[in-house]
Amino acid sequence: MSPNCAECGANLSEGVSCQSIYESFLALEYTDYGYGEVHMLTVACFMIQHRRYSDEALIWIEQKLHDYFERGIPVDQIRRRAEIETDQTRRAWKVIRQADAPPLPEIAWSMTIVDVAANYQDAQSYCELVERWARITLHEMKPLLTKS
Ligand SMILES: [Zn+2]
Repeated sequence: MSPNCAECGANLSEGVSCQSIYESFLALEYTDYGYGEVHMLTVACFMIQHRRYSDEALIWIEQKLHDYFERGIPVDQIRRRAEIETDQTRRAWKVIRQADAPPLPEIAWSMTIVDVAANYQDAQSYCELVERWARITLHEMKPLLTKS
């Protein structure tokens, strides 16, 4: 029987975790620009689905994804703005969810990092899959934003 990820619910194969997949994705994105193009989306999706973001950061990242998908703002522009907005010295809120933060509702994500890992063949299909993963995550993350 294969275990499920306790955070995002993904079905994992033996000896694999979402964290290990994520780390291999980051290594790929840092070394190959063809993969690195979607870096912002990979980080956002992983962080959202693994409940790593604070309530403030969830609202913030939802806005970024919305800007990208719904308003067509280019990713480098979003990235530049994101760097300024998440600068430790400028903001009053924490990006990372604190241990004493209220638990977030569980979401049955229809796509996870495991689906990207299982289906990409090259940089192009990787980017397409991450984009799809991000659209789905943006669409399904709404219950995370309702309280506050
Ligand atoms: Zn997971």
